[in-house]
Amino acid sequence: MPTSPPLDTKTGAGLGVAVKVLRTVAEVRQQTREWRSEGAEIGCVMTMGALHEGHLSLVDAARSGNDKVISTIFVNPLQFAPHEDFDSYPRNEERDLELLAGRDCDVVFAPSAAAMFPGGERSMDEMRTKVSVRGLTEVMCGAQRPGHFDGVTTEVLTMFHVVGPDRAYFGEKDYQQYVIVRRMALDQQLPAEVLLVPTFREPDGLAKSSRNVYLSAAQRQIAPRLYAELKAGAAEIARHGAAIAPETVERIAQALPRKGFDSVDYVEVRTHDLDPVQPGTPVGELRMFAAVRLGGTRLIDSFAVRETT
Ligand code: AMP
Repeated sequence: MPTSPPLDTKTGAGLGVAVKVLRTVAEVRQQTREWRSEGAEIGCVMTMGALHEGHLSLVDAARSGNDKVISTIFVNPLQFAPHEDFDSYPRNEERDLELLAGRDCDVVFAPSAAAMFPGGERSMDEMRTKVSVRGLTEVMCGAQRPGHFDGVTTEVLTMFHVVGPDRAYFGEKDYQQYVIVRRMALDQQLPAEVLLVPTFREPDGLAKSSRNVYLSAAQRQIAPRLYAELKAGAAEIARHGAAIAPETVERIAQALPRKGFDSVDYVEVRTHDLDPVQPGTPVGELRMFAAVRLGGTRLIDSFAVRETT
C-alpha cells in the first residue's frame, strides 16, 4: 500500500496545498503589474530553497506586513566558488512549494539560471555586469569567501529589479549579508524597505540552516556550542564593556576547537553597521560574529550584545 506523506498542519507540508509558481521574468512582471493596479503592496522573501522554519519566519513577516507575498527559490550560482557546494546544495522544490503554500505565500518565482541570467553566465567570472559593495564585503565571511558577496549582490539586485517589492525580508542569521544588501538598496535608490527578521534557532540554540543537513549525528551535537560560546561572549562584553572585546574574541577563538570544531574562520566583534569596535563603543551597538568548520560544513552565527544580557 502506498504510504502518504506526513501531514504537518502548521506548515501545510503534505496537505497538498498549491501555490502559484512562475518561471520567467515576464510572468513575474505581469503578476506584479496586476497586483499594483489593485493597489496592493508586495513583500518579497529571497531564498535558495531547502526551506526550513527560518525561511518560513521571513515569509510570515512578509505576510503580516504586505498585501501580497512573493518568495523566490533560486540556488544562485554566482555566489558559490568553484570548490564550494553548488552541485550538492540541497534541493527539494516540491517540498518547498508545499511549505510556502502552507504559509499563505501568494506566488513563488523559481527561475532557471537561463531565465535569471539571459547572457548565459553561470559564475561571477563570466558576468559582464557586477554589483559590488565596497568596504562591507571584504571582511568576515567576505575575507573567507572572496567574491561571495559580489555574487550575492549581483543576483539580489537583479531580483529586486524583477520583483520590484515594497519590502524585502532578510534573516539575521546572515547578518553581514543583510547589512550589505541594505547598503546596496540605499546606494541604488531601490524603492524597497530592507527588513531584518530574527534568527530562528533549534531548541538547543543552533541557527537553522539549509546546510545543517550535512552534519552527522555527532557533529549535530557539537554544532550548538557555537551559539553557546557567542552568547557567553556577548554576556561578558555586556558586563565589562567594549574594551574587553579583543580579549573575549581571543578566548572564544581558542575555545571553539576545544569544543569540537575543526577550525575557526573568524570570531569578531563589530558594530551593527559592521564598523570596528572602539574601546568606548556603547555595548548596545555591538554584535559578535563567528564562522567555524565542522567537517566539510561551514557554520556561521552572530549575536547582538545587549545592555541587559
Ligand atoms: P538562504 O536560502 O540560505 O539563502 O536564505 C534565504 C534567507 O533566509 C536569507 O535572508 C537568510 O538570512 C534567511 N535565513 C536562513 N536561515 C535563517 C534562520 N535560521 N533564521 C532567520 N532567517 C534565516
